[in-house]
Amino acid sequence: MRLAVIDYDLCNPAKTNYACKRFCPVNRKGEECIRIEEKLVNGVKKQLPVIDEKLCIGCGICIKKCSQRAISIVNTPEALEETPIHRFGQNGFVLFRLPIPVMGVIGLLGPNGIGKTTALRILSGEIKPNLGCFDRDVEWKDIITMHRGNELQTYLEKLSKEEIKTVYKPQQVDKIKKVCKGVVKELLEDVDKSIIDRLELKNCLDRNIADLSGGELQRVAIAKAVSKKADIYYFDEPSSYLDVRQRMNVAKIIRELSQKSPVMVVEHDLATLDFLADRIHIFYGVPSVFGAVSKPYSTLNGINTFLSGYIREDNIRIREKTVFSSTVSENVIKKPVLTEFTDLKKRFKTFELNIKSDKIYKNEVLGIFGANALGKTTFARILAGETTADSGELDKKIKISYKPQYISSDFKGKVEEVVQSKQEFKQKYMEPLELTKLLEKNISDLSGGELQRVAIASCLAKNADVYLLDEPSAYLDVDQRLTVAKILKTRSENSSVLVIDHDLLFLSYLSDRAMVFTGIPGKIGKAECMSVKDGFNTFLKEVGVTFRKDVETNRPRANKLGSQKDTKQKESGEYYLGA
Ligand code: SF4
Repeated sequence: MRLAVIDYDLCNPAKTNYACKRFCPVNRKGEECIRIEEKLVNGVKKQLPVIDEKLCIGCGICIKKCSQRAISIVNTPEALEETPIHRFGQNGFVLFRLPIPVMGVIGLLGPNGIGKTTALRILSGEIKPNLGCFDRDVEWKDIITMHRGNELQTYLEKLSKEEIKTVYKPQQVDKIKKVCKGVVKELLEDVDKSIIDRLELKNCLDRNIADLSGGELQRVAIAKAVSKKADIYYFDEPSSYLDVRQRMNVAKIIRELSQKSPVMVVEHDLATLDFLADRIHIFYGVPSVFGAVSKPYSTLNGINTFLSGYIREDNIRIREKTVFSSTVSENVIKKPVLTEFTDLKKRFKTFELNIKSDKIYKNEVLGIFGANALGKTTFARILAGETTADSGELDKKIKISYKPQYISSDFKGKVEEVVQSKQEFKQKYMEPLELTKLLEKNISDLSGGELQRVAIASCLAKNADVYLLDEPSAYLDVDQRLTVAKILKTRSENSSVLVIDHDLLFLSYLSDRAMVFTGIPGKIGKAECMSVKDGFNTFLKEVGVTFRKDVETNRPRANKLGSQKDTKQKESGEYYLGA
């Protein structure tokens, strides 16, 4: 099946003068493979190209001729010779198959733009599937017949009769501010006190919804969703904006909810997903062009299949294989010292930070983690010279390239003005981080994930002794996180890399050593460097979660709470990679 997909947000005939139509060999022979039609884009009527997929021979000339990079022509894999579940209009994105809602927690895993949110919107009744027919109304009986014989049949029958009550926690929690006004306690008046306590929302109750941070909005949205009665619950990226401890708390709450009703969760943090899910569907395809849903796997096999990059049933390679190191540093690594720091102390009005003296080694990746509001960013700012410690210092000045946690999009200019176009830079960062397509975009128009990738590339391209990145995985999908982890590991071959983050698998993949922040958020923060094993052990003990080593991939694998392994590891005090 040949798919021709046009991104009408990018399509700009004023710049291209319909080069696609002028150069299409089928058009040149006199047939209308590409024709011009009136289309409504973002409320504006425009004369835009439409590609006839039956006439298209897949030569790819239009892709090359379109300076706006708006066209994709893709042949779907043989395994997808089937009716799609939904298509967003002619030359629009296509989704094949749906995940199956059953009891327990079903995890949806895959990159952005591949149809995960579309699948949730269909299953929650927000979108009626059209089976790829966008010129006529499709009847529910046809949609149900297509799924005869599996659990989706009964589900879709009930959905068509509006007999299923669903609760949907959306991805973009910041939009809550637009629809909900007033103070938090009014919004949460029907929410159980224990949920408010567990989600650490007590101190937010008297605040205005408009003043909440991303992490607070996320927890408010989760509290509201789990408190509603429903036949099925959908959570779209519940760990975004949350610190590592909050992620584990949310995962525990969602697991408890799944004892009563099925729960489906889209999640990019593999450690959280591992802990959370009972079954996993992998989404694969070409972002913004088509997406397909794999069969359900056990959580173990789902994550391992994703990391292996190969879906055996559909005989398709979906990504490059990711390999985890077979050894975990138990002792502090011995590498040349770049700099040493004495005990560092910094006091604010209501907060005090104490960092234990240590060293930063050349060619190491130091993974820095702990709850929010314990001083991680303050430490980064001391190293970067943006603020000074009240007592203590570094033994020498080091050149630091710093990517802050919050990235400003105020820059008035295009991406190409920020990133270098040197050949070496292009190969090392621009291509793997998929920045080539963004070069002509204004910085102010970039999405959170695009801005993050530009900021990472721009930080790594500078000459420095230390590259310090604060939350580089935020806004990135699972593929992009693993790509960034690989890039950072390569960068550490010539310099030191310090990474503050909340994604445990991302950190365990790239860290040579750990720096763990503990204390009381907002009051007192303490930090100490240690081996990766000791660092994760200290942290996981605090949140009451255990990980063992997966024999197939070497990745840390979460034990289910209360399982034999979990109990045994807790008894022996080996919370991270216990035997
Ligand atoms: Fe025409 Fe298809 Fe070739 Fe594009 S890929 S130029 S639409 S034949």
